[in-house]
Amino acid sequence: MLDVVQIPVLNDNYVYLLGHEGTKTCAVVDPAVAEPVLAAAKERGWRITHILNTHWHGDHTGGNEAIKQATGCTIIGPRAEQAKIPAIDTAVGEGDVVTLPGGDFAHVLDVPGHTAGHIAYHFETQGLLFCGDTLFAMGCGRLFEGTAEQMWVSLHKLAHLPDNTEVYCAHEYTEANGRFALTVDPGNDMLVDRMDEVHRNRAQGFPTVPFLLGVDKATNPFLTAGTVEEFARRRAAKDVFKG
Ligand SMILES: [Zn+2]
Repeated sequence: MLDVVQIPVLNDNYVYLLGHEGTKTCAVVDPAVAEPVLAAAKERGWRITHILNTHWHGDHTGGNEAIKQATGCTIIGPRAEQAKIPAIDTAVGEGDVVTLPGGDFAHVLDVPGHTAGHIAYHFETQGLLFCGDTLFAMGCGRLFEGTAEQMWVSLHKLAHLPDNTEVYCAHEYTEANGRFALTVDPGNDMLVDRMDEVHRNRAQGFPTVPFLLGVDKATNPFLTAGTVEEFARRRAAKDVFKG
């Protein structure tokens, strides 16, 4: 049983604690910073045993060293980016399984595109996906190191997971993503309804993450694109979109 705690940090990052009450332990996904993460674990009486990094960017790994220093935790990150992950202990990639002290485990998926070695962690039993900066609500990560083809394959790998998968991405980009999505697909009633709900939630300061994969498959313009060429055109248009 995993207890997910969402910690908003910096401008729009989300760090996640994956807690296990039985063992009073937790793992941290993509700690941008250390202090609020250490505080949240302490508040719940959980010992941090692992950090799970999805990619090397500083707003996902900035807390690695301080958290490891404070807790002695094990840092797990993408094999293809291990040289860039601060204080990494264990490098993983597609097909590997990461098991936490309470027995909960995640399959590792290679999802390059945003960065060359980006990975995601899929807790299949619980239906939870931690996908960093690959899939966002109604959006996807920018192509900093990968090609449109790579990102297209990565997004479709994620889209093949069950529709009731809860997606925990690393940023609150939903409102801006949705504004772009509406320019692509203005006649999509499900998208219009979703955006109404997103605006209501954001107006009250509520997160729009996690979200259901099945809903995103019907409303995310990067998942509804029919071809890789269409995907690439939409990604390029979003890069310069001023919503
Ligand atoms: Zn990133």
